[in-house]
Amino acid sequence: MKALLLLAVLLAGIWLWRQRGAAAKPPQPTKTPIQQDMLRCQQCGMHIPSNEAIDGQLGSYCCAEHLHLSEP
Ligand SMILES: [Zn+2]
Repeated sequence: MKALLLLAVLLAGIWLWRQRGAAAKPPQPTKTPIQQDMLRCQQCGMHIPSNEAIDGQLGSYCCAEHLHLSEP
């Protein structure tokens, strides 16, 4: 009977250890990229961040050169 009790305690110990092991697992890291508006250059089609884009009458451009090429 003592052996049975010992086995029960041992099994309980293993179960608790496994439960703890599962709980200790770190949560999956969720990568959230920094959301930034990307605009497309009307001249060359390159994507540029909105803060670097040059606004023209027809749309946005990557540089002043392309603004002048598209909108003379
Ligand atoms: Zn461009």
